[in-house]
Order: sequence, then C-alpha cells, then structure tokens
Amino acid sequence: MRKIFVIILAYLFSTPAFAQIKFSDETKKYIEYNDTVMVFKNALLIDGKGNAAKPNQTVIISKGKINWVGDDAKAIIPKDTRIIDLNGKAMMPGLVMLHEHMYISAHSITPRYLHLKQLPFSFPRLYLAAGATTIRTCGSIEPYSDLRIKKDIDLGIIPGPSIELTAPYIEGKETIFPQMKENKTPEEAAAFVNYWADQGFTSFKAYMGVDKPTLKAAIDAAHKRKLKITGHLDIVTYREAAALGMDNLEHGFIASTDFVVDKKENEHPAAGSAIKSLGNLDIESDSVKQFIQNLIDKKVGITSSLAVFEGATTTQPLPVEDAVNAMSPDTRDFYLKRLVSVKSAKGPTDWDKAFVKATKMEKLFYDMGGLLTVGTDPTGNGGTLAGYGNWRAIELLVEADGFTPLEAIKIATLNGAIALSFDKTIGTIETGKSADLLIIDGDPSKKISDIRKVVYVFKSGVGYNSKKLFESVKGKVGFN
Ligand SMILES: [Zn+2]
Repeated sequence: MRKIFVIILAYLFSTPAFAQIKFSDETKKYIEYNDTVMVFKNALLIDGKGNAAKPNQTVIISKGKINWVGDDAKAIIPKDTRIIDLNGKAMMPGLVMLHEHMYISAHSITPRYLHLKQLPFSFPRLYLAAGATTIRTCGSIEPYSDLRIKKDIDLGIIPGPSIELTAPYIEGKETIFPQMKENKTPEEAAAFVNYWADQGFTSFKAYMGVDKPTLKAAIDAAHKRKLKITGHLDIVTYREAAALGMDNLEHGFIASTDFVVDKKENEHPAAGSAIKSLGNLDIESDSVKQFIQNLIDKKVGITSSLAVFEGATTTQPLPVEDAVNAMSPDTRDFYLKRLVSVKSAKGPTDWDKAFVKATKMEKLFYDMGGLLTVGTDPTGNGGTLAGYGNWRAIELLVEADGFTPLEAIKIATLNGAIALSFDKTIGTIETGKSADLLIIDGDPSKKISDIRKVVYVFKSGVGYNSKKLFESVKGKVGFN
C-alpha cells in the first residue's frame, strides 16, 4: 500500500501540469525531456556572465525554472526525480539572438522587391535546434504570419524559440522596397507605431529611409508605450539617432553613415560611400573614440551581425556542408552562384576593408563599456540561415572581433537579455531564472565552435533534441 502511494506521488509530481502547454504530436516528436523536476549533475557550467567554466556542477530545475545551482557535493537531490549525469558535458544558457527574421533572401525575378521568403516551417525549428531559446525578429515582412508563428510556438503547436516580435520596418517618405509602407509625415510614423503595437508587436525597427523628424516621432511613439526601438539607418547618422533617444542600432558599425565626408543632413549618402568611409577610417583616432563614447553615454546598444556581412567579403570561408544540405535546391543554387561571384572579386574590396574596421569598432565599443549584442540577419547572399547562422555570428565575435569565447557567450546570452530588459528571467544560469539551457558535447568556453555540438536545448525546462530538429528541415530551407 505504502509503495503504491509513493508511486502515485511520484507520478503526480512528474506530471507537467505547471506548464499548461499541450504540445502537439508534431512538437512532441522533438521533446526528449519534460519532467516537472529534473537534476543535471557533473556539468561543466558556463554561467553566461563571463565567469570561467566550473566543473562538477549540479543544476536542479523545477516547473520550468532553475531551482538550485552549485557543487555536486553540496546538492540535495529531491527524491524520485530524473537525474541526468552530464559526464563533463558543458551546460550554458540558451542563446538570446537579436537580429533574426522569419524570412530568408530567396531567388526571385521580380525587380525592386526585397527578395524574401517567409519560412514558418523551417526557421523556428532551426533557431531552436541551434540553441536560440529567445530571438527578436528584427523587422517584419509578413507581420500577421509572424504573430501567428509566435502564438503557435507558445501554444506548443510548433517547436520554436520564444519570440520578441518586431513590427514591420518603419520607413520614411520614400522606400526602395515595395513591401514597406512609406510614412510621409512624422504623424504617420507615430500612427504606424501605434497600429502595430495594438496588433501585439512589442519592439520596433526604423529603416534606412527615415529622416530625423520621422525617427523622432517613431521613437517618441514607441517610448510612450514603453517599447524599445532599434534601427538600420542610413539617412540618420548614429550620432543623430543617439541624440534623438534611440535604444539600439543594428549591424555593428557597418550601417553607420557618420564618417561620410560630404553627407548632407536628412539625406542619404551617395551609394557605397558609407562602406568606403568605414574602410578608410582611422580606428585609433580620437574622433572614433569620441563617437563611440557618445553612443555609450547615451546608452545606445549595438547589435553585431557579422555573419551576414561576412557573406559580402572575398575572405569568407567556404560554406558549412550541413547548412548547404539544409537548403532546398533553388535556394542552394541561388546562394552558391552568388557566393562564387562575390568570392571571385579581386580583394581587398571596399567590403573587405569595411568588415575588418567594423570588427575593431565592435571590440572597442565593448571594451569601453558599451552594451554589445549579437544577431544573425538571415538575408544577404542567402547563405546565412537561422540556426547555422546563429553559430557563425557568435564564432565571428571570437575569430574576427577578438573576444574570448567566454565574452562571446556573454554577448550572446546575458547581453541579449539585458538589451531586451529580460535579464531578470533569462540570459544566465542562476536560481529563479527560466530553465533555458543548452547541453553541449564539448567546451565552448575554450573553443567557441563547440557551440555547434549542442545536443539538447531546454526551453522553460522542456528539453528538445537538437539533431532531430535539424533533420526535420533538411533540404527544405528556403521552400518551407
Ligand atoms: Zn535584418
């Protein structure tokens, strides 16, 4: 009798009633662990705060949250719980990636339009598979689809990361892309912000065609609703945006038009002049330091997105085989053709030079105390995919910028959480935070490319099999 009672109790406590998520049969295919309480022992713990990795650590999770973290020897293991001996595998926080999209650059013969394809099937899976437990969709092309993807993930209908939704791009009087609304006046831009906030979007991104009055109206409208706004600007310089109250700027320093010599206020610089000016910039100069200090003083964050820009350089490495195999045939053709054409240019090109300078500026910004975050931006030449591109963006923080692996991990976890104001709940492995954890068969604190060896991705305490998620999209990316 007593034995039966214990068994019933154990059963009750292992029922995932807390989560209140009824996962679909499809999502369940990828879930390996979904216990109310779980114990991981013998972990090499990377906390996300930049501290050295600690061996022999126990992490106890309960009801989707981290309940206890400490030495194996001091752990009090609750009875009847599943214990996973990690046998020296690394555990680190889930990635918080800030420049993601639900679309990819795709082949198209339609002129003028941004050649994009929404990928509601493969991209959420790829993000989660790679360990991105939280992403910000930094600019929407199919807003109602983005809203639905987030809802479907939160309901357990499809597997995917937690999503911080960014509204459709805020453009100015004229846009080069027909998919974007032209806001002819500052009032129109404010109304645009309010409309999308009403639809459920919780962050904003201003785009290249906004001028200062339009940007000011958009910033004020977003801030009035306590929402954040970032930008990929061109008419407005970084210094001007900082003065207007911008929260964040995308693409590291590659989108900065501050150093174009004859740039006119409230006008685009000449095509290609910004990249040229960056390539020729003297990074050691006082004007660069003052420029960066000003951004830090004004509390403007910067998102590095080197993976997509690497695709514009002649120095880029050959593609990773798994990423190419993930692509659908037409996506693969489109990408490989563009890759050959970019790589065959005679270097160093303006892009090659700008890329190197931009990496040095990101490092300087971080070292001077700026909040540097990282994102993927799966656009460009079509080779930067969700998932694989997340890894590449983080590797480049080490390879190109010169950060230590521990710094790169902090940028990709805690810093992302801070930028989203989610750092009370995600971004590090600490008691009370969401159990967003990666189990890695390697040591990314020593060798950053070991993030590619992620085995299980825990999101709110639910453990997904990374390999199965990757396999489910093989040959489909770009088509679904
Ligand atoms: Zn983007």
